[in-house]
This record gives sequence, structure tokens and C-alpha cells, in this order.
Amino acid sequence: MLNLTGLALTPGAQRSWWLREALDQEDSQPRPPLTADAKADVVIVGGGFTGLWTAYFLTERDPDLGVVVLEQDICGGGPSGRNGGFASGWWDELHGLITLYGPHDAVKACRAISSSINALGEFCERHDIDAWYRRGGYMYAITAGAHEKLCEDMVKLAREVGAADELVELSAAEVKARCASPAFRGGAFMRDGASVQPARLIRGLRRILLQRGVVIHEGTRVTGLDGSNAVTPGGTVRASHAVLAINAWGVGWPQLNRRLVAWSSYIVLTAPAPERIKDIGWTGGELISDFRTSLRYFRTTRDGRIAFGGGGGRARRTVDAMFTSDMRAVEETADGFRLMFPSFADVPIEDAWGGPIDVSPTHLPTFGRLEPGNLYYAAGYTGNGVAPAHLAGQAIADLITGADTDTVRLPMVNARPRPFPPEPFRSWGAAVVRRAMIAKETAEERGREPGFLVSQLARTPRRMGYLLGPD
Ligand SMILES: Cc1cc2nc3c(=O)[nH]c(=O)nc-3n(C[C@H](O)[C@H](O)[C@H](O)COP(=O)(O)OP(=O)(O)OC[C@H]3O[C@@H](n4cnc5c(N)ncnc54)[C@H](O)[C@@H]3O)c2cc1C
Repeated sequence: MLNLTGLALTPGAQRSWWLREALDQEDSQPRPPLTADAKADVVIVGGGFTGLWTAYFLTERDPDLGVVVLEQDICGGGPSGRNGGFASGWWDELHGLITLYGPHDAVKACRAISSSINALGEFCERHDIDAWYRRGGYMYAITAGAHEKLCEDMVKLAREVGAADELVELSAAEVKARCASPAFRGGAFMRDGASVQPARLIRGLRRILLQRGVVIHEGTRVTGLDGSNAVTPGGTVRASHAVLAINAWGVGWPQLNRRLVAWSSYIVLTAPAPERIKDIGWTGGELISDFRTSLRYFRTTRDGRIAFGGGGGRARRTVDAMFTSDMRAVEETADGFRLMFPSFADVPIEDAWGGPIDVSPTHLPTFGRLEPGNLYYAAGYTGNGVAPAHLAGQAIADLITGADTDTVRLPMVNARPRPFPPEPFRSWGAAVVRRAMIAKETAEERGREPGFLVSQLARTPRRMGYLLGPD
């Protein structure tokens, strides 16, 4: 029986715990909505990491550029202020990266993400932003026999591209020494991994942009683009360049909808229990996840809590209330937590929240220019956007300012992956396949053979040429 002691909430009827904690430290009001026509060099739709890093790098490149950010909520109200706070490397994505871009460019992309992880820490130091940045690395934990080969292959691939130091195999004892969960059988350690309090990071970034003179309108929903002009109910921002930094909301935009499927992910947060965390030896600040496609991911916080995400969630055609108020997904997430950490059975879960993830056909994001030429975007983070959005912001700023940098030559810049099928097949298919993947992985974890139909359905995306789900 699920124990949600102390959990008195309606998910989504409130900000994430991260964002409430961050807003409590601030002495700042929401920026007023746009109420009249305006002009800018660059208008950015979306005030998450992608939008704000783009604004940051634009002002680094040219402090005189007029930059306007339009956000329907407040900056960080979306996934950037409600994610797990994993800033993690891409060495675990080598298989997909090599398939798409070849080994040389795959390694270049991984190294670029590594630089972004470091840069997040440097940014916080430079601007005095206490975003709880901690470089504890990332541990993968095997929780089902079916994952042993996945782990072996992942480590082998890193070795083959000359990056043996980046990803190393861990024995069951080594995994338990870092975090003693009875569910863990062995695993791997990726040194590229830092945890952040994501809402403190995004709100700190917002503060720096306001100091630099970037104009931010919150509570301002963009209803469409007319070329590179952004149309809102209160007025139009006429700009030479526009950036779509709208993450999973892209499913509702013709420019992006064939590139994305929106899936939900939920996080539960325990009460502080630092002694219990010490008892299981999890004192190194490691980010941890399992190997499921319906990934479970967890980390500790500075005040001794565990934030535990994933394991449930659904796919949908539009970003609606299901992404923030799905109590069943909260319960599935809490079930996962209880399974991994039975010794925390009496530790209350104090909070829970969810958000949309923009799943791409390749499990990897792309960023760049969209036709007709002065419209830019980044999308498809597939639940890993904290570090990549920093890189995307640089790439978009470089493209807009015409800077000839290594970043604009990265393979995911202006890449065009095979699109998803059109609606209604895309969202129906995604919903069915996601449930099948979860059923398959749950059966494997419990030592049962998944049913034939479930296994076949879970494998459908790979058979259709997408880099998603089990082989
Ligand atoms: C529960 C959860 C856990 C996650 N955990 C991790 C993690 O641990 N590590 C990791 O790397 N990634 C994680 N992610 C993914 C990560 O949060 C995203 O990839 C990242 O925040 C993307 O940043 P973004 O700026 O592109 O999107 P967002 O933060 O979603 O920002 C987009 C913004 O656009 C705004 N917007 C949308 N439409 C409009 C419009 N028409 N007009 C105006 N504004 C609009 C939205 O309100 C939103 O604020 C997680 C996501 C979720 C939901």
C-alpha cells in the first residue's frame, strides 16, 4: 500500500517545491505583461533555460542588442523550474550520437556538453548565484537482469571512442558503497554530472538578464509568429530575429510539431532525512538513475531530502492539465521511490509535481535555424535539457550574431532528424507505446517475462527507425 504520509497537495495547483524555495529567497515581482506594440532585434518566446541562455549569450556577444523575452507564466514556471536538477553528460547517449553523426562528431558533442556542465558552475560563481551546484557525477544502477547488457555495451562504447575515463563499470559492491539500495545490482559511473537547484539557477539567470537590460514580459502568451514578429493579445513585438524556446509546447506549433511528442514526468520529494541518507552511504552527491526507458532518476538535496522522478507518465497531443495534476503518475513515482528505498518507508513524501518533456525521434535535441531563415529554435531535449539548453543558447546566439564558432559546427546544429508521423497517429502511437514500455520494464524488474504483445509494441519505435525505446 502506498504511503503518501504528509502529502496534502494537488499536483500542479502549486509551483514546484524548487520554485517556491527559490522565490522565497527573492525580492522580485513578476515582470508586467506586454500591453503595446514594441520593437527588438531579437524576440524570444519562452522564459525557460533555452530562452534565457539565448538571451544571456546574445548580450555576451553584443551588449547593445535589443532582446525581448515573452513568457506566458513566470520565468522558470515551466520545466526549467521543475526538473530533477540533473546537469548530466552525454556519454550514455553515444550509441544514438554515433548512429546519427559518426564517432568523431559524437565525441565532439559529448565534450561540448561536458563544457556546459562546468560552465554552469562557473556562471553561478561569477554571478554569485547559489544554485546548490554540486559535481558528484552520475551513477547508473542496474535494477533488472535485462539491463546488464545495456550497461556493458554503454561502457564498452565509451572505451571504443577513447573516452574510457568518462564512463566506468561498477560492481554491485561499488554501487552499494555509493548508495545502498537493495534494488541495485551493479552499474556504471559517469563523471560528467552535477546537481543544481534548477529554479534557483533559472531565477538567478533572470536576475542577471534584467540587470543587463533584457526586457522580460511575463504573463504574456504568444499566439503566433508573423515572420519574425511575435503576436500576443497585448501587442506585437516586431523583431529581426525570433527564437522559439517553448520546449514541449512546440507540439502545438506547425514549425515544430512533427519533431516532438509530449510525455509527462513527475517528481516526488521527501521530508529532510539527512541521517537516513547517511545510513545508506549516499553522501557523494551522485545523481542516480536506472536503465529503464521510463527512466527513474533521483538525487539528494542540500537540506537532506531525496527528489525522485519518473517511472510513470503519459503521452498527450497538447500540453494540458495532465502534465501537472495526474495523481496516478504521482503514485507511480512514489511507488518507484518506495521500491528503491524501502528503509525510507516512514519518511514522509512532502511534495510532488510534474511537467512536460519534449521527446524527439532520436532521444537527442537539435537546435538551429528554421526556414524562412530568421527563426531559430531548440527542442527535443527528451528529459535532458539542463546542460544542453546552455549549449543551445550559445549556438542560437552565435547563429543570430553570425559568429563563426565551434559551437555552430556541432552536429546537432541544423540537423534534421526523421520526423514523427502526423497526428493523430503520433500521439495515439506514443501513448500506446509508452504504456507498453512501462509494462515491459516493470515485468522485467519483477523478474517476470513481459507478454509478447507488450514486448512487440515497446519495440515499435526502433522498428520504425526512431532511436527510442528498447531494441
Ligand atoms: C519533471 C521533469 C524532470 C526533469 N528532469 C530533468 C533533469 O533532471 N535534467 C535535465 O537535464 N532535464 C530534465 N528535465 C527536462 C528539462 O527540464 C528541460 O529539457 C529544460 O528545462 C528545457 O528548457 P526550455 O527552456 O527549453 O523549456 P521550458 O523550461 O519548458 O521553457 C519553455 C517556456 O516556454 C513557455 N511557453 C510555452 N508556450 C508559450 C507561448 N505560446 N508564449 C509564451 N511562452 C510560452 C512555457 O511557459 C515555458 O516556461 C525534466 C523535465 C521535467 C518535466
